[in-house]
Amino acid sequence: MRRMEEYLKHKIFVVASQVAAEQNRKAFVIGGYVRDIILQRPSKDIDIVTIGSGIEFAKEVAKRLHPGIKVSVFKNFGTAMFKFDNIEVEFVGARKESYQRNSRKPIVEDGTLEDDQNRRDFTINALAISLHPDSFGEVIDPFGGIEDLSSGIIRTPLDPDITYSDDPLRMMRAIRFATQLGFEIERESLNSISRNGERLKIVSAERISDELNKIMLSKRPGTGFKLLNKTGLLPIVLPELEAMKGVDTKDGKGHKDNFFHTLQVLDNISKYTDNIWLRWAALLHDIAKPKTKRYSKETGWTFHGHEFVGSKMIPHIFRNLKLPLNEKMKYVQKMVGLHMRPIVLAQEEVTDSAVRRLLFEAGNDIEDLMILCDADITSKNPDKVARYLDNYKLVRQKLKEVEEKDKVRNWQPPISGEEIIETFNLPPCKAIGDIKQAIKDAILDGEIENSYQAAYIFMLGKGKEMGFEPIKKG
Ligand code: ATP
Ligand code: MG
Repeated sequence: MRRMEEYLKHKIFVVASQVAAEQNRKAFVIGGYVRDIILQRPSKDIDIVTIGSGIEFAKEVAKRLHPGIKVSVFKNFGTAMFKFDNIEVEFVGARKESYQRNSRKPIVEDGTLEDDQNRRDFTINALAISLHPDSFGEVIDPFGGIEDLSSGIIRTPLDPDITYSDDPLRMMRAIRFATQLGFEIERESLNSISRNGERLKIVSAERISDELNKIMLSKRPGTGFKLLNKTGLLPIVLPELEAMKGVDTKDGKGHKDNFFHTLQVLDNISKYTDNIWLRWAALLHDIAKPKTKRYSKETGWTFHGHEFVGSKMIPHIFRNLKLPLNEKMKYVQKMVGLHMRPIVLAQEEVTDSAVRRLLFEAGNDIEDLMILCDADITSKNPDKVARYLDNYKLVRQKLKEVEEKDKVRNWQPPISGEEIIETFNLPPCKAIGDIKQAIKDAILDGEIENSYQAAYIFMLGKGKEMGFEPIKKG
């Protein structure tokens, strides 16, 4: 029998062991914490399962650790939780679960450790280590979880059809763990997920996006989306991404498979940033390509305006996934909407005015946008990749020069709407916005200097052109 007492030196385990002996009860560390010890991954939460009441046990352990600890009790679930030393410790009585067809909430009754391990999702998540002094540190591994950890396999303890159908969230968890840990999902499981995909519909969007976000934060998130695709979950989880699959050919001309291209971009960007929203932008940057795809003999395949259409699709996608509809979403929209701009700059002669406009629109997110553009280069031809990267270096250089000179990154036009109203004594009307826009354009295009004086004179001229007279001041 494998022993792991060397990992149980923390005071929480020492005290839990004492209390288990005094109360004459069995208690075990179980689940993700044990898995992460063996994988040497950091872990912030400990789950302790005991035979009998987890709540009483938790209260006593907490009292001994520190009299002031606040224990949160969830009576309905028979669980209790406290925080000690920045670690969340959750206590639960061992339980047996049975499921009904239309809900992922089980009927729960008291059970043995074995029952409790049976209800776990994967063999690698079902490992337990005993805390009672009689057997302190002994590992209870009924399903070969340690073996699966060392060979990198995701496998369910019971028949996968039962495990996945009981709680379909486990299908997402399987794919998430495979992605996070770089593990393989065992074939039976994979087939079962493919068979049970429809069951995902009883899982809330929030739980699905929790898993998606964990996939997004993995080293190679693309793996997760490939698995979603392979198992047929993709159209349920993110139909817009599903629509990007495939290649059309006309007159012998094909376009690239935008789904696999996107996953490559996502994996690329993940090497350079942990910003989950920039990663989401990478996943969604070409999302409107299916909608905007056209073919003509002269131009071949085109996706005109896909960045604008894509940017408009983001709120709907975020709402469906219950992702935040706040400035994070706006940032993703901005990245998607602007992602073609540096490409155009790199292809054509870079004018100061185009650079100023991009700086103005991207603001402080300009470097993120350039990271997205670098990641968007997925050619298999290394010469091409090098050439594109060089082009972007030039764009970056130009961005830097123009910013140093003109400071437009966080720039606000020097004349406000109010000033235009007062100058010409205007009622609320469209002309105000038009004049304001004209001033902004004139500065960004370099027609006039970026100063209040120049802008004021320009405003007077523009107003006159439109038939307005400035009122005399004073
Ligand atoms: P992470 O903390 O990285 O999300 P985890 O496996 O620790 O991964 P938790 O949600 O903390 O996940 O759950 C702790 C343990 O509870 C798991 O290791 C597993 O044994 C069990 N568990 C969690 N969710 C499920 C589920 N849907 N079905 C079965 N067992 C589950
Ligand atoms: Mg956990």
